Amino acid sequence: MKVVKPWIQCEAFDGVKIMKKLERACRTCYRSEGKITDTSYKQLLSNCIKVGHESILEHEKITVRIQCDIGFYKDVTRHRAGTSFSIESTRYCNYSKDKFTNNIHFIEPLYSDNKEKYKIWKETMQSIEDGYMKMAAIEGTTADELRMLLPHSTAAEVTMTCNIRQWRHVLALRCSSHAHPSIQQIFIPLLLLFKKEMPEIFDSVPYNEDFPKKKYAKVEILND
Ligand SMILES: Cc1cc2nc3c(=O)[nH]c(=O)nc-3n(C[C@H](O)[C@H](O)[C@H](O)COP(=O)(O)OP(=O)(O)OC[C@H]3O[C@@H](n4cnc5c(N)ncnc54)[C@H](O)[C@@H]3O)c2cc1C
Repeated sequence: MKVVKPWIQCEAFDGVKIMKKLERACRTCYRSEGKITDTSYKQLLSNCIKVGHESILEHEKITVRIQCDIGFYKDVTRHRAGTSFSIESTRYCNYSKDKFTNNIHFIEPLYSDNKEKYKIWKETMQSIEDGYMKMAAIEGTTADELRMLLPHSTAAEVTMTCNIRQWRHVLALRCSSHAHPSIQQIFIPLLLLFKKEMPEIFDSVPYNEDFPKKKYAKVEILND
């Protein structure tokens, strides 16, 4: 059994370049390409968002790769519009195999600082892993059968792509205090990155500012 932390890897992107491409698409509506300057995208995009002319944000997308728990993707895959997922399959991945170092990986729960709760969680995960490995040792057992033993805390990798409009929508819902904490943990630091790189688009997206910063998932930029 391995206890791991969640993380998020974001493909390298140039926020200004994305916003300039969105401006060019948007100006088709008014045939006002002649008004493009080095900074004209700022006012244009802010105005479009203010009046709800948001379909222009669908022309660009960003892909991230996430290490999360099953509970995270159970909730986040409810988003249908402008969103694509590829998710590590518990139907094909057999964690008793060498490829997975013969371990189930579990995401550390947010209450790991509470010794009493963490002890119960860890003992429960250990007994689940023991059962998984015991069943895996029975000849002919398939990953399909084994996955029935896996809990929400099981770690999984997810590749997620959204267009910019949909990122605004997903992050607004999932960075709120109403979203599950394990989702806030991953998406708040991503939203903060988007706010820094594309303030004209993401500054108006709210988030739970009381979520403990020390629990934020690590964000890494992937260059390739
Ligand atoms: C705090 C929280 C608690 C939740 N609790 C539950 C729960 O207990 N049980 C449960 O089942 N779900 C729950 N959900 C899931 C929620 O109901 C949505 O299914 C999920 O957030 C996906 O969002 P969305 O509908 O905006 O879809 P998206 O795919 O993100 O769609 C984006 C937008 O496109 C439009 N759209 C997409 N599809 C349609 C459509 N078919 N018809 C009309 N317009 C559409 C809507 O404007 C929508 O907002 C919860 C979500 C949150 C954030």
